[in-house]
Amino acid sequence: MNYEIIIIGGSYAGLSAATTLGRALRKVLVIDGGKPCNRQTPHSHNFLTRDGETPATIANIAKDQLTRYKTVKFVHDFAIDAARQKRGFEVLTLSGKIYTASRLLFATGITDAIPDILGFAECWGISVLHCPYCHGYEVSYQPTGVIGNGDGGFEMAKLISNWTKDLTLFTNGEPTLTAAQLQKLKSKKIKIIDSEVQAIAHHNGQVKSIALAGNLNHDINVLYARVPFAQHCNLPQQLGCQLTDMGYMAVDGFYQTSVPGIYAAGDNITPMRSVALAVSGGVSAGAFINKDLIDNAYI
Ligand SMILES: Cc1cc2nc3c(=O)[nH]c(=O)nc-3n(C[C@H](O)[C@H](O)[C@H](O)COP(=O)(O)OP(=O)(O)OC[C@H]3O[C@@H](n4cnc5c(N)ncnc54)[C@H](O)[C@@H]3O)c2cc1C
Repeated sequence: MNYEIIIIGGSYAGLSAATTLGRALRKVLVIDGGKPCNRQTPHSHNFLTRDGETPATIANIAKDQLTRYKTVKFVHDFAIDAARQKRGFEVLTLSGKIYTASRLLFATGITDAIPDILGFAECWGISVLHCPYCHGYEVSYQPTGVIGNGDGGFEMAKLISNWTKDLTLFTNGEPTLTAAQLQKLKSKKIKIIDSEVQAIAHHNGQVKSIALAGNLNHDINVLYARVPFAQHCNLPQQLGCQLTDMGYMAVDGFYQTSVPGIYAAGDNITPMRSVALAVSGGVSAGAFINKDLIDNAYI
């Protein structure tokens, strides 16, 4: 075996696990493709001591600190194949390298499926937001929209009403809200617009207005949206790891997937997306992998 652990994905969860494992004197390889989900956001918030930094700054400080550990190697590459071997796993990368290890950790995150609405992609992470805990404070009290329908749209609108009283729910078609939900939104003075959302007018990613079917425009400064997602990396499924009904990697209380020896941490296992939680998951997964290796050395 070249390494004891290969970590695929070297963003917040992967770097955090690498730090924990490197400090536990484990021989670790991190393979990272360099495409974290928050790369378009100008400022990251709600991570202690790094509030307002760029996402890259936070990761770069961690990468820099990781170079202190002789136990950890970081490579910019992309894992394109992985297979089980007699006593561990083999990983093939885009650059043609083959690495082996007895444990794998997938810290590969998820990819957001950006809807086919003109301007949406350009504004994603700048003024079209996924989470008020990450970005809500900066845009509080401003004319705000939520795009969503049914239970998801209702819950998001209710949540966002904590940050602004000037709120519109764009259902983008016939509302599928219950009478009770409609009543609650009305009592909070949340406007509901059901016209089709056709485009987001913006300047350098800053939303100016929403263009609706029927030549209508609605001025807002910020829009919240929950978009569908997919696992960023399909190698775990190829290796037989199960997904939950919601599409996250299924892990036990020790961050181990349904395949012994393969672990997962970060956005790929939970809808609770935040840098702090990804870092926390990485620390936990790293400690549990180290325990697994210690326990198995005594068998
Ligand atoms: C637009 C946006 C803004 C956000 N803003 C905030 C914020 O302000 N504050 C906050 O706390 N959270 C924020 N978040 C959430 C936060 O970014 C995520 O929770 C966090 O990035 C998850 O970390 P991760 O390590 O699990 O995954 P990611 O950061 O997504 O990293 C996954 C890494 O794995 C790599 N990878 C995937 N597949 C492979 C492969 N096959 N081979 C090699 N590498 C691979 C990717 O290239 C990437 O580098 C934001 C999220 C989004 C989408």
